[in-house]
This record gives sequence, structure tokens and C-alpha cells, in this order.
Amino acid sequence: MTIKLYLYNTISRQKEEFKPIQKNCVSFYACGPTVYWYQHIGNLRTYIFEDVLKRVLLFNGYQVKHVVNVTDVGHLASDADEGEDKLLKGLLREGLPLTKGSMLRLADKYFQEFLEDFKRLNIIMPDVWCKATEYIDDMIKLIKLIDKNGYAYQTSVGLIFDTAKFPHYSDLGRLKLEQQDQGTRTSIDNERKNPSDFAMWITNQSNHIMQWDSPWGKGFPGWHIECSAMSRRHLGDQFDIHCGGKEHIGVHHTNEIAQAEAATGKHPWVNYWLHAEWLTIPEGKMSKSKGNFIRISDFVTQKIDPLAFRYFCYTAHYRSPLSYTAEAFAGSVKGYNNLKKRIAELLKEKTDQGENIKTQYQAEFKNFINDDLNIPRAIALLHAMMKDEKLGAKQKIELLDHMDQVFALDLLKAEEQSIPKEIIELANERLQARKDKNWNLADEIRAKINAQGFNVMDKADGYDLEKCH
Ligand code: AMP
Ligand code: ZN
Repeated sequence: MTIKLYLYNTISRQKEEFKPIQKNCVSFYACGPTVYWYQHIGNLRTYIFEDVLKRVLLFNGYQVKHVVNVTDVGHLASDADEGEDKLLKGLLREGLPLTKGSMLRLADKYFQEFLEDFKRLNIIMPDVWCKATEYIDDMIKLIKLIDKNGYAYQTSVGLIFDTAKFPHYSDLGRLKLEQQDQGTRTSIDNERKNPSDFAMWITNQSNHIMQWDSPWGKGFPGWHIECSAMSRRHLGDQFDIHCGGKEHIGVHHTNEIAQAEAATGKHPWVNYWLHAEWLTIPEGKMSKSKGNFIRISDFVTQKIDPLAFRYFCYTAHYRSPLSYTAEAFAGSVKGYNNLKKRIAELLKEKTDQGENIKTQYQAEFKNFINDDLNIPRAIALLHAMMKDEKLGAKQKIELLDHMDQVFALDLLKAEEQSIPKEIIELANERLQARKDKNWNLADEIRAKINAQGFNVMDKADGYDLEKCH
């Protein structure tokens, strides 16, 4: 029996069977980072969710064309066309020259940091990274179409999208437009016709560092037009899946839809909308603007394997909030390390039994992941499988390999490989000290190894190393 894939679609507010536009290839766009600062573990929770989605699609036999944007211009401090460009905020924070070159260098620096996090978390790189500053022509082309189709008007801020003209405007966010406070958005620009109207091209910030000529005057693009234009270039007028964090539902994604459909007249622009819940800390949402964030490199400094954070993300479904506390995370680190230790033992065993039970586990696994990515249940299944005495080591290892296509936790990578080179070098020095009967030096080196979070155990022919748990 084939196990179908069901995904929760924000637009219908229900789980739907997934059917791509093309039979075997899924077109997938995810809103990416604004590269004015480091990405925090909240942002990365969303990218891990998107990676799991992509892995589940691949697991189901689809090819995936995955596109992610990189915002290096146009994202203002508020999503409502207000405040300074976030990239300018980055330059001011770091005391850098206020020039185009330095802005692009800042963007590249944080993009490279972001790529490092992707690698550390085993996130598959997208097929296309698109940087907003490299797609200005596509944006202008799209805005021209929107303008030609009668959805735009000019104010002293720039070229504005007239949301009242677009009949599906409230669909994704189930917005109650009639209840929107006229004062909120119109205070930014009192020439605006509706509170939800937004800028596609901004011309009133003459001191903005990056400006381009356009039919509406010299200026720069609004943040929302970036995604509508760049996804169109790479995925066409209509595509399968669009993702992002849940705060994008009411404004950013709503505006992306309005622009794309107003330009092409094709509805629906995107068939499946998936949104991730936030990672929270006791004070609320983790966010760059509040500066209350933790990074993956903080874990690396503490000698914690970044994949323990991936494992922590699996303690909650992607549509549930995930509360980060030091205690909760420490529990996951311990759980992940113990699991890897048990797997290391398993790899030494030779038992071979329970082929038919293995098939049942495979089916159950697929049922969970295909039920709107129910990873917490799939993880519970992994633990049940590890304890199942009817299964041999061979079958368990094959199942771990099978499941890790989706989990991406490096389950079968031997523990030794995750021991840093410096620790192995110290252990070798200590081995030599023992051979030389220099016990004081051997003790000193042991203390150094312990201080970095590892234990060294002496053996007749050498040593064993393990992480402290
Ligand atoms: P940004 O770089 O701020 O534009 O955010 C990049 C992605 O991370 C977006 O999809 C956001 O929705 C998401 N995001 C931001 N903060 C959090 C959070 N605390 N938890 C989960 N996702 C978040
Ligand atoms: Zn976007």
C-alpha cells in the first residue's frame, strides 16, 4: 500500500494530500535570511524544519528544486515600510563606512556565517541562493506588470500596491481588513488609500545607500517584491510549496501573493503554504532585533555537537512552539550523546534477525513523517526500535540508516569522528607521557582533556576517548 504525503496548508487551515504540479519534481521556495547580523537558533529552527520537509519530499521519491532568497537590501526595520534598512542598521552597529561596498561586504560576511551554520546542522544547500541586489531588473519588470494591470499608485513614499483591488488579499492571513486601524499604516504615508497598502518601490529615502533608476524614480525595492520576483525567475508563474516563519503569514507572504497574482493574473500562485512556529525563550520570541539570541557557534565553543540542536528541534512538531531553556537543551544534548553511544555499541554487535519486523518499522516511519512531518513521533519510534529485542543489530543499523535520511543526525557516524582533532592530539601526547612514565605530565594532559569536555580512558594498547555526559 502506498503511503501518501499529507501537509498542513496554512491557506486552507487543514492537512491536504500533497500533489505537485509536475509529476515528480517539486518547486519549493523558502524565505531566507536578512544578512545584517548572525542567524540565531530561532531562525535555524525554521531552516531545519524546511530541510526536514525537503528530505521528506526526497524520501518520497520526488526531485526538489529549492530556492532561497538572501535579503541584502530593502528590509526595513518594520515590515510596514517604516524605519531604516536593516543592512544600514548593521553598518551603524559595527561602525563601518556607510558605503555600498561596505554594505555588500557586511551582507557577504553574514551570509558566509549562515552557510557555516547550514553545514554544521546538516542542512542540504538549496539549488539556488538568490541575493536581492542581483535581481533588481526582475523586480522592476514585475512591478511594471502590476502597474500596467492597474494595481499600483504613486505617493510621496514611492509606488504603492492598492490592496483593495486584489480580491484574494485576505485569504492567507484570514485578515479582517474592515477592522484594520486606518491610523496605523496611513500614519507612515497619509496618501495611502488603505491601511494594508504597501510599498513596492521606495523613492523617498534619498540618503539610502543603494539606489537604482526605475520608471517611478530613483529608489530601491520594497522587501516583499524580492520574493515575488526571484521565485518567479527560478520557479515560474506558479509553483508548489512556499515556507517561512509564522510571522510572515499576515504581511510578507500576503503581500508576496498579491504582487505575484496581480502581475500574472494566475491563481493560485502557490499551492501549499507551510509555516513554522517560533523558538521561544522565557522572555518571548528569540529575535535579532531584541538582541536576545543564541547562535550555533556558542554551542561549538561549549564543545556541544550542533546536531544536538537538530535533535532538540525534534522534541516539538514544527507547528508547535519550542521553548528553549538551558535545562531543556541540556536534556537533549544528553539524549543525543547517549543515543550515539548506544549506536556505537550496536555497531560492534553481529546479530541478524527480524527482517519482517524491520519492514513494519519502515512503514510506520513513513506513516509518521508523511503525516505533516510528525518528527517527534518518528523519533519515539526510533527509540522503540533501539529497544526492540526481536530485531538484530544488522536490522537496527539498516533502520537507523533509513531513518537518518530524514533526521540527518549523523546517527551512524562513529563517535570518534566527532572528537575534535586537538583532543586526539592531546590524548596522543598523553600516551607518549605514559610510555615515558612521566605521570605528572600525563595527569596534566588528562586535566586539559577533561576541561574541554572529554574523558580519556587508559587501555593496555592505547586509550579510549568519549564526550563527558
Ligand atoms: P530573518 O533573517 O529575521 O528574516 O529570519 C529568517 C527566518 O527565520 C524567517 O523565516 C523567520 O520567520 C524565521 N524566524 C525568525 N525568528 C524566529 C524564531 N524565534 N523562531 C523560529 N523562526 C524564526
Ligand atoms: Zn519572502
